[in-house]
Amino acid sequence: MSTLSDALNPCEPVAAGVLGVLVETPQHSGLSGPLDYVCDRPVAPGTLLRVPLGRREVLGIAWTALRPAEAPAAEGWALRPLAAVFDRLPPLPPAWRALVDFAARYYQRGAGELALAVLPAELRKLDAIQLDRRLRRLDRAAAAAPPAAGPAPERPALTPEQAAVLAALGLERIGQAGAEPPVTLLDGVTGSGKTEVYLRAAETVLAGGRQVLMLVPEINLTPQLEARVAARFPARRILSLHSGLSPALRLRHWLQVLRGEVDLLLGTRMAIFAPLDRLGLLVIDEEHDPSYKQQDGARYSARDLAVLRGRLERAAVLLASATPSLESWHNARPQAEGGAGRYQRLAMPSRIGGGVLPRVRLLDLGQLRREDHAAGLIAPALVEALQQRLARGEQSLVLLNRRGYAPVLHCAACGWKSGCPHCSAWRVFHKSDRSLRCHHCGATERVPRHCPECGNADLDALGRGTERLADELAERLPGARIGRIDADSTRAAGSLEAQLAQVHAGDIDVLVGTQMVAKGHDFRRITLVAAVQPDAALFSSDFRAPERLFSLLMQAAGRAGREASQSGQSEMWVQTWHPAHPLYQALLRHDAAAFAEAQWRERFEAGLPPATHLALLRAEARTQEAAQAWLAAAATLGAAAAAEAGVVCFPPVPTPVQRVAQVERAQMLIEAPRRAPLQQMLAAWLPQLHGLREPRVLRWAIDVDPLAI
Ligand code: ADP
Ligand code: ZN
Ligand code: ZN
Repeated sequence: MSTLSDALNPCEPVAAGVLGVLVETPQHSGLSGPLDYVCDRPVAPGTLLRVPLGRREVLGIAWTALRPAEAPAAEGWALRPLAAVFDRLPPLPPAWRALVDFAARYYQRGAGELALAVLPAELRKLDAIQLDRRLRRLDRAAAAAPPAAGPAPERPALTPEQAAVLAALGLERIGQAGAEPPVTLLDGVTGSGKTEVYLRAAETVLAGGRQVLMLVPEINLTPQLEARVAARFPARRILSLHSGLSPALRLRHWLQVLRGEVDLLLGTRMAIFAPLDRLGLLVIDEEHDPSYKQQDGARYSARDLAVLRGRLERAAVLLASATPSLESWHNARPQAEGGAGRYQRLAMPSRIGGGVLPRVRLLDLGQLRREDHAAGLIAPALVEALQQRLARGEQSLVLLNRRGYAPVLHCAACGWKSGCPHCSAWRVFHKSDRSLRCHHCGATERVPRHCPECGNADLDALGRGTERLADELAERLPGARIGRIDADSTRAAGSLEAQLAQVHAGDIDVLVGTQMVAKGHDFRRITLVAAVQPDAALFSSDFRAPERLFSLLMQAAGRAGREASQSGQSEMWVQTWHPAHPLYQALLRHDAAAFAEAQWRERFEAGLPPATHLALLRAEARTQEAAQAWLAAAATLGAAAAAEAGVVCFPPVPTPVQRVAQVERAQMLIEAPRRAPLQQMLAAWLPQLHGLREPRVLRWAIDVDPLAI
């Protein structure tokens, strides 16, 4: 048993050996591997420690085994000793280190940058004494309260569909080398009882002495799942890891995980790096959700890493969705049919209790009279349908994926529009606080009384956001209690919970919201869902936009009629100019498989992912020209490696929103027929980019498997 004094004892500078230590080295330092320190005793790889770095002392992770000290380091200066070793903590497990190593290589980041970025930030601040204090507190907590084993909680009898899925997961093969369980894509409609499958699978895995990791796309969805899990497993140690926790609590949970004091861990994408070491099952709920992709720093996909982690630890992996991502669809498609044949696909097509999915009605905007368009965003037939629900005391949900009152303010006299001075974007008119706000750089100012160009006092709000939609509904549905949930209405801590509680309590008749409300919430009394302006995604330059729209609409449809008794009357309305579009036709039939098939074919015909593999190199500079010039120079530098690997670098182009906060942004798409040549080319190319001097370029970054293009 090591003691506090061990931890405080710095290793003597007398060189007994050399230890490779990962520290936080930003990408641009060009340092990617471990740094060497001298150490006078063996330290297990994965051990957390503190080391001097420049004039600071920083957190590090022992990454290599101690090796004998050779001749003095070539750089001509002596290696420095460790500052402290956190002996009282178990080392990060080998599978964790393998995961970090892989992710760093795959996403082209330094291992140190990635490893330290996925540790709780609070850990970096602690010295050995402070850490020890926290650990003693955890010791006391662990000794004090073994979870009470009460009566076995009730659980529903499995439906045949659920039973079939559970039998096929291969849980009995967990841990078996060479015969490990398959990765499963569970394609199950909302309300088909997927969560019950997770709980049953978890039960089996926990009974076998292994741990369970369940990921959900958003923090907001954790409390709901946590409550359900806690009710089912009252005697198990359940923890959560997500960015909604205070830094101190996040550290505490993370330390408990490292100490093995957890049976079931819930979390958002960051939890994929939790240092569990008896992992038996990983569940990725709503696996198609873009939130699983980290959008800055080390841009990793928690879903893809979950599959890798499952392989590394011979654990079962369950990816679940009502609208699987095209990537997973491809991976689950048999090789004989042109797919990758990597996952097994299991389907749960029926809703529990025989509930049916809402009837979908496509409202053809082309059929409306001119005066109906002028009257507002909501067609008369939809207003009527909302009125009927209202009269019956039922709730409705109206979706519009644009917050604020109007996307732009316009002067009819001179043509002025409310552009952002810092970005190539409009500033959005927010009526509630009479502000013009840029959603890209955050620049906010009061709405001008007069046109800043010509002084005209009549400024028009062009287009409609959720605020305006809520106003319109209030006007057209007198007496209705209208609620609105979007990123603006939920900014204050706790306000989302409060607003959701109002909906659940029946204090809201019509809820207006962005995609935020379409995800996962179990609204029992909503019988009508309407999407009022979804068409833009059909014609977006982003090839994934239709996939996103379809999953959003399917998910939104899943919000209606969750109470089986009401499901027969529930409806989903879609206002569109293109009712014959195949996307809407698939929605009409709730046919996610048909949609995925059609998309899959289109992608293969167009040579887009998952048929090909992409990376995106982005550069930011004061001028667009400088950003593009740097990318062009980078392309020249990589031309040979690209040609050798059969990889194509497309010409640099401005990003969709080209200027943000006075910074110009450009990007270059890199495309490869397969993953391996892309990886090979990036590994050869990126280290060279660090030497590419272009003083005008402020930042650059690589995004492997980018989600937004
Ligand atoms: P999903 O996760 O696919 O949306 P859930 O697991 O939440 O579906 O199940 C939908 C509803 O059906 C929940 O209220 C759940 O308690 C209930 N349920 C799930 N499985 C069963 C079952 N086998 N028997 C009865 N009710 C079930
Ligand atoms: Zn004007
Ligand atoms: Zn701006």
